[in-house]
Amino acid sequence: QQQILLKERPNGMPTRSTFQYEETDVVQPTEGEVQLKTLYLSVDPYMRGRMNDAKSYTAPFQVGEPLNGGIVAVVTKSHSNGLQEGDVVTGMLEWKEYNTVDADAVRKLDLHGVSSSAALGVLGMPGLTAYFGMYKIGEPKEGETVVISGAAGAVGSVAGQLAKIKGARVIGIVGSKEKADYIKSLGFDEAINYKTDNLKEVLKEHCPDGIDVYFENVGGEISDHILPHLNTFARVPVCGSISSYNLEKGERDIGVRVQGFLVKARVKMQGFLVRDFEDQFQEAYKALASYIEAGELQYEETIHEGIERVPEAFIGLFKGENIGKQLVKVSEK
Ligand code: NDP
Repeated sequence: QQQILLKERPNGMPTRSTFQYEETDVVQPTEGEVQLKTLYLSVDPYMRGRMNDAKSYTAPFQVGEPLNGGIVAVVTKSHSNGLQEGDVVTGMLEWKEYNTVDADAVRKLDLHGVSSSAALGVLGMPGLTAYFGMYKIGEPKEGETVVISGAAGAVGSVAGQLAKIKGARVIGIVGSKEKADYIKSLGFDEAINYKTDNLKEVLKEHCPDGIDVYFENVGGEISDHILPHLNTFARVPVCGSISSYNLEKGERDIGVRVQGFLVKARVKMQGFLVRDFEDQFQEAYKALASYIEAGELQYEETIHEGIERVPEAFIGLFKGENIGKQLVKVSEK
């Protein structure tokens, strides 16, 4: 079977030579273990941070070791009472075609009738991130103005629809016309294309009453344009800042202009990690599934076929090549 290792730490944008493919044996399970065939493998922006040799909230990947992340897999052999052959599970697993792990390391999926791939998107980590960021920190109220950057991605597209459910006016910022059309089709009130629109002018036009919630996914220049519009007591869930993830060593990060706006408007700006809300995951899964069932929450996936396309899928995140959740389909059930 094939597995993917971190070949070298990237400086700036990752390339094909960040990754190394290697043949390795499929391991037989022993007592309490299961053998899993990978169906879907998730590529996520946070993995770029783990490629650096820097202390952070998750340990760095090691050069020469397999990469890992969220995976949906089917049980092909079971030596555990809890799981049977054919069960579909998810967990943090290594990037290989077959993983053999303790049965406790994975969770059996109960997907409420949607595709198992959703466990890595709308009904997985990105969906939960949108839910907690928007509902526990952003707390949008009816009639308020909510702006979301990275709005056509896995987190942003869900965050926007959750704000709509609460009756807010929602404006999304995206990097292409196709994505602008997509988020409008989801019910976003306005879409701004930061590559072609004059951000300064369009924000003035679309946010005449200022901004009450800014769901921050990208940082950098885009956010520099948004922050001056924050209303008194606005909330800013700081989910990520993807525009800075591939800065080369020595390049200056952004953020120097933030503080002035926060003080002036007494803004609450809070960074968060989805795992801070672990004790409420069940509540969130249920709520998200019920919104999908009611037709209030839609989702899109960009799926590349074949384990050989993992580097392309990952690098594509930083080039805006995905709509909704980016996944790689490794094999059929
Ligand atoms: P996405 O599906 O949104 O994919 C990334 C998208 O980001 C791209 O498609 C692109 O869209 C946009 N993008 C890439 N580079 C830039 C750039 N330089 N400037 C502006 N936009 C850019 O990924 P996710 O939904 O998985 O993640 C979104 C954010 O949420 C990330 O910052 C991520 O790190 C963060 N996150 C945080 C979590 C937490 O616990 N705090 C958990 C999960 C995610 P476009 O074409 O519109 O530019």
